[in-house]
Amino acid sequence: MVRAIVGANWGDEGKGKITDVLAEDSDVVVRFQGGANAGHTIINDFGKFALHLLPSGVLHQRIANVIGPGVALDIDKLLKEYDDVVGRGIPRPKLFISDRAQVMMPYHVDFDRFEEERLGKASFGSTKSGIAPFYGDKYLKIGIQVCMLYDPPMLRERLHGAITQKNAILEALYHKPPIDEEALYHKLLEQAESIRPMVIDTTAYLHQALAEQKSILLEGQLGSLRDPDHGIYPFTTSASPLAGYGAVGAGVPASAITNIYCVTKAYSSCVGAGPFTTELFGDAAVELRNRGGDAGEYGATTGRPRRVGWFDAVATRYGCMVQGATECVLTNLDVLGYLDEIPVCTAYEVEGRTITDFPNTPTLMKCKPVYTKLPGWKADVRGVTSFDALPPNCRSYVDFLQKQVGVPIRMISTGPKRCETFRR
Ligand code: GDP
Repeated sequence: MVRAIVGANWGDEGKGKITDVLAEDSDVVVRFQGGANAGHTIINDFGKFALHLLPSGVLHQRIANVIGPGVALDIDKLLKEYDDVVGRGIPRPKLFISDRAQVMMPYHVDFDRFEEERLGKASFGSTKSGIAPFYGDKYLKIGIQVCMLYDPPMLRERLHGAITQKNAILEALYHKPPIDEEALYHKLLEQAESIRPMVIDTTAYLHQALAEQKSILLEGQLGSLRDPDHGIYPFTTSASPLAGYGAVGAGVPASAITNIYCVTKAYSSCVGAGPFTTELFGDAAVELRNRGGDAGEYGATTGRPRRVGWFDAVATRYGCMVQGATECVLTNLDVLGYLDEIPVCTAYEVEGRTITDFPNTPTLMKCKPVYTKLPGWKADVRGVTSFDALPPNCRSYVDFLQKQVGVPIRMISTGPKRCETFRR
């Protein structure tokens, strides 16, 4: 059985916690795309963990964790995260790295930063983790797979090819010093040794796990609207965060994915640039931002304040559709207990028309939200673990969202802790 946990929106929906909850009855947890550019916040008995590259199963000793071929592998960051986790008392996680995953190079991170600096005001709000240059090189076929680190002549030749191109751009476009090829080559050889025991053919491993009836959990990063094809391009990430891509980036058959859990917050939050129709500003934004998440809405990786807004049913319905959601998980319901009434965006208005289908980027940029206002419940529901125990207005809010989104909300989270979750 393969289950996927993915985001319905712009990321930060609370997938980390839900992955941690569902990991309990999984045998393998797999990261299938992205890199150290996003983070999952997990709070358990050992404390609070912001995981970036490590799969969320690392906090459960029984679980095998896999970094699939679709991931952008920053080896230094991975090892640091691994050491941090172990240093805080977690038993050594079982971790496997795909021999076909590609290696994030220091120059990818530099190019990310140089390009955002060059773009200035027109920048994309990149986390500057090297993601766009990394995937650019992957599809230009000048990337380096983990397996190539163990073939020194091939590594040298490929590195030279890539660096020749990089140095020309560094000099002509960014006016920066060239890359020290020799030093990087030796650093890569060292990194290769430090991860050697973890590197395997993870695709074969996962197919074997499936043959043995094991339960595999695909752990998505970001959300639908950051998908390069179906999202708010160009304000997207560079590798698909959709469950459909999960099959590719992890290395499991598409037909094996049976459950797609699409996570969404009870309001909206968004890190980075791009159209965000229900965005709040001023005092209302500050209040929601400070009350959101476990310690305010600030990026798990970057610490940047997140943009916040009301629940956007148009975007979430679309987000669930492109994910192929079989059920929805609603998080952060506890955050809204302070409001007298809660607006929910049920349509967009654009050029005199009202639309309910999520449009392409140029149209989206002109859209204004159409709100339906629901009564608040004015109560603290933090830690409530049954639907019936929620105040009537809170239940009505959930039912309204479910009707709008068109996917059953089967799991609800009322606080950042693992135990503050229930199914209905
Ligand atoms: P992810 O990238 O989708 O895993 O999202 P993050 O975990 O980075 O962001 C979600 C934030 O909300 C984190 O600070 C979580 O600790 C927090 N969180 C998750 N679920 C809940 C919830 O139900 N209530 C509250 N108050 N915080 C939550």
